[in-house]
Amino acid sequence: MALEPATADTAEVGSDFIRDIVQADLAAQTYKRIVTRFPPEPNGYLHIGHAKSIALNFGIAQEFAGQCNLRFDDTNPTKEEQEYIDSIQADVRWLGFDWGTNLFYASDYFDRLYEWAEGMIQAGLAYVDDQTHEQIRVNRGTLTEPGKNSPFRDRSAKENLDLFRRMKAGEFPNGTRVLRAKIDMASPNINLRDPVMYRILHATHPRTGDKWSIYPSYDYAHGQSDAIEGITHSVCTLEFEDHRPLYDWFLDKLPVPAHPHQYEFARLNLTYTLLSKRVLTMLVRDGHVSGWDDPRMPTIAGLKRRGVPPAAIRSFIKRIGVAKANSVVDVGMLEFCIREELNRTSLRRMAVLRPLKVVIENYPEGQTEELEAVNHPDDPSKGTRRIAFGRELYVEREDFMENPPKKFFRLSPGAEVRLRYAYFIKCREAIKDASGEVVELRCTYDPATKGGNAPDGRKVKATLHWLPAVQSLPAEIRLYNQLFAKPNPDAANFAADINPESLEVLSDARIEPAIAQGNSDAPMQFERQGYFVRDQDSTPAKLVLNRTIGLRDTFAKEVGGKG
Ligand code: ATP
Ligand code: MG
Repeated sequence: MALEPATADTAEVGSDFIRDIVQADLAAQTYKRIVTRFPPEPNGYLHIGHAKSIALNFGIAQEFAGQCNLRFDDTNPTKEEQEYIDSIQADVRWLGFDWGTNLFYASDYFDRLYEWAEGMIQAGLAYVDDQTHEQIRVNRGTLTEPGKNSPFRDRSAKENLDLFRRMKAGEFPNGTRVLRAKIDMASPNINLRDPVMYRILHATHPRTGDKWSIYPSYDYAHGQSDAIEGITHSVCTLEFEDHRPLYDWFLDKLPVPAHPHQYEFARLNLTYTLLSKRVLTMLVRDGHVSGWDDPRMPTIAGLKRRGVPPAAIRSFIKRIGVAKANSVVDVGMLEFCIREELNRTSLRRMAVLRPLKVVIENYPEGQTEELEAVNHPDDPSKGTRRIAFGRELYVEREDFMENPPKKFFRLSPGAEVRLRYAYFIKCREAIKDASGEVVELRCTYDPATKGGNAPDGRKVKATLHWLPAVQSLPAEIRLYNQLFAKPNPDAANFAADINPESLEVLSDARIEPAIAQGNSDAPMQFERQGYFVRDQDSTPAKLVLNRTIGLRDTFAKEVGGKG
């Protein structure tokens, strides 16, 4: 799919407490130019929660004529991969945002971070701790009890420097020593109880290879990277609020070129969805889904494959706004935004998901005609197409009932309906196989009703979609439901909450030829069915289509149903 440039809907100025701060800082000339950043760790694919942060950081830069850097927080080579670096860049672009030349990596700053760490050791602000991981954890204390000083806390600067250099030189195994900031083991804020700055990791880094045996922690790398890049507003999610004093502490102690400010906003949470890279990684690894881009995944790659347009995601993010208090957004809101965008943009087509054969007994054998169908009911500029009509057709199996209840107006013995763009037909007989299943309907058509209206003014209560038997094509259609069966799935035990009916594959569907023509990745509306998009698993012989979303919100009524 072609990259979609940032369009009018991304350039519009939004309003929220962070933008208010930015605006005030510009008005007070605290800054001449705003610089923000989006700082993903390349340890997984981006999800729709990240889209909120992307839209906020890139959006602010666009609206206030500033700059937004894409910075990879690549400080843990045991979990990070080039595949993730590549996918993150592709996904940010696909969402419609552009970092220009401002692509950075925390690893770009490893040398400088290391020098600053040595400076801290020399100033008595950092020490090498030989305690085990477990001892450090226990001695950190709790929310109600202070921590205990490490027995190694008062090492001389000389000894610390020697040990730190040997850590860097790779002399010690993983986990045997760390470098810690010397702050206060009794601080009420646990983040200030001598946080770890460096740990030993003998691992090959995607960018720095085997140069380093020690890697900086998030807390030590992040604020300093912000300062190096001249970030003015370092926007992150609320769980970092308690880290802000540490963020400021490092910036105060180090000879950094600037002192950025950190602001926190509420992360996006969605019903029926888990937005955690840890959980998403396990869903992929344990085979609960086909990959990071499985259309049931809340990843950007999954949403894209499912046929969700980037404009729908941007409009969703704009609608939910940016707040300071955590909340859970109804996934129905996202679905509303998807429908709204697709209804406006997608071409109309016909497909029969579960075909039932219809023979029009009074239509001459061997004859066909072409009928005209509109591509978009509200937009004549999208034109028309032709659909073949003949003696043998397919209709949707669920549009026939042998013994219909009172309000069923579709096909049943003796009932008359309209076939969209075609004729009125009347059902004469249902033919069954040996097991009693209906396999074919015998119908007649009224030639006077061409185009779908009866000259004598008689009405029908149903208009059905249909396809010609011969001139339609086979297709596989994949229907998706929520991946989790509960509105609030349990992240700690997510496997138990997986919806066993999240995927339904219809392998005998029929589609009109216009769907297969061209090579378009654009989603389409299949009349009466919903929005669909071609999947990458398609072959020249058989198209595979994903249902992006149904036409109406049936999900709220029957959870996990065929919505
Ligand atoms: P996760 O919590 O899903 O494992 P993460 O926070 O570890 O993700 P990062 O790569 O560190 O992932 O995230 C990059 C940026 O995206 C951070 O600034 C983070 O605050 C933001 N972010 C992550 N998840 C959300 C979310 N659900 N809503 C809004 N912003 C988010
Ligand atoms: Mg993170």
